[in-house]
Amino acid sequence: MTIDLKTLTISSAKEMFANGTLKSVDLVQAYLDQIKAKDGEINAFREVFADALDQAKKADELRAETDSKTLESMPLLGIPFGIKDNILIEGRHAGAASKILENYIGAYDSTVIKKLKDAGAIFIGRLNMDEFAMGGSTENSAYGVTKNPNDLTRVAGGSSGGSAASVAMDSVLVSLGSDTGGSIRQPASYCGVVGLKPTYGRVSRHGLMAMGSSLDIIGPIAKTVEEAEQIFKVISGQDRYDSTTLSGDEVSAHIANSSKINLDKLRVGIVPELMNMGGINPAVLANLNESIEKLKKAGVEIKEVSLPHIKYSLAVYYVLMPAEVSSNMARFDSIKYGGKVDGKDLLEDYLNTRGELLGKEVRRRIILGTYMLSSGYHDAYYNKANIVRDLISADFKKAFEEVDVILTPTAPSPAFKIGQNTSDPIQMYLEDIFTVTANLIGIPAISIPSGVVELNKADGVGEMGSDGKKISLPLGVQFMAPLCREDVLFAIGKKFESVIK
Ligand code: GLN
Repeated sequence: MTIDLKTLTISSAKEMFANGTLKSVDLVQAYLDQIKAKDGEINAFREVFADALDQAKKADELRAETDSKTLESMPLLGIPFGIKDNILIEGRHAGAASKILENYIGAYDSTVIKKLKDAGAIFIGRLNMDEFAMGGSTENSAYGVTKNPNDLTRVAGGSSGGSAASVAMDSVLVSLGSDTGGSIRQPASYCGVVGLKPTYGRVSRHGLMAMGSSLDIIGPIAKTVEEAEQIFKVISGQDRYDSTTLSGDEVSAHIANSSKINLDKLRVGIVPELMNMGGINPAVLANLNESIEKLKKAGVEIKEVSLPHIKYSLAVYYVLMPAEVSSNMARFDSIKYGGKVDGKDLLEDYLNTRGELLGKEVRRRIILGTYMLSSGYHDAYYNKANIVRDLISADFKKAFEEVDVILTPTAPSPAFKIGQNTSDPIQMYLEDIFTVTANLIGIPAISIPSGVVELNKADGVGEMGSDGKKISLPLGVQFMAPLCREDVLFAIGKKFESVIK
């Protein structure tokens, strides 16, 4: 049988599983065929698990012998996932796309994986990323760039480039990524899929390789908002292995604080000062305006809000994140974990190992962060950045008294050419301008496809695709909501999907 992988969702797959028209084994086989046909070029996968079909077979058997009541407690039974290479699965390699963890094998299941397993999910493979999630293009992977399925001369985005490309090229149904400053949302927008960064603390980080511990979060990438919601429901929750996860009471308190939100009548905020900053691709601005018009036509109230300190977000992020990176990366000392390049004494072991087995961008951030935390500079940079972080948070609190969500583009440009920004780290960092704020202040944010930009030499907007044909590149918009209001993002997200068609 042929399965329409383009339109398949978790719900439609589940329906077909239930009425016997689809087996998980056939679905996984279809994905394996797709990987074989396409991944040689795209490079979304670090590894395809040899037992993927066995997992599917077991899921099919379990379904056949389980009563429907029990099946309800396994909402993802037989649903094939791809997993970013920085999330541990017991007994399987996990390398964060770094040479230093080339032979590392997960000693335990991360909490999200445990929850997915309990829900019946199966895992097809692990996905390429920027080394230790540091980057926005997957060009920092030690194992080659992930190409954009829409145009092979362009990046898939990053750092969860493999997670977004694998969904976009229909080689997994859904995937998990991680987001420290945009790494779920930006690749989702570049590849034309949905990416959710949950509220900080709503999803456990236990078993996620740490990048910036006050910023990191795991979230889903899928074709639809409904699927992102289904996965979020399974992976979220307080966890005794991550003391920063929120308790039920804390979640309820945040929701109660914003209780005047009416899910049927959402007010959408736009931020003119952010749009007028310059450096935003005209096609992105035009697409945002179109999105706003469509929402207005559908009866959604649009209101301008002011966020006076948001212009400092990127600078604050690029102080705090490297500081946390330098602390987190100290564990890779050639003794506790991973690879080692021997020297004549302990110091030379450190220097050789970290110098040779960590990539350039990771080393750059360790150096930056160490400098920022050193005595004398700690107050000037790190502490000051934390003060501004609070000011940004206060701006949002105020804005959320007037609107329920805030709308921005996800990224200032469509997917860029491979190699275009590699020699200019600042240019690369500027791509994160719209996404880092949600991480700094912990709020949830979602990227949703908002149409395409046609690249056509004739109109001067861009150039032809690799094969000389006209190409369309996906664009995405981002909605941000108050703490713990993922429900608001799902409501406006579904509405947006219906008006943008
Ligand atoms: N692109 C951003 C960076 O390079 C975000 C990375 C991330 O979210 N992991 O830091």
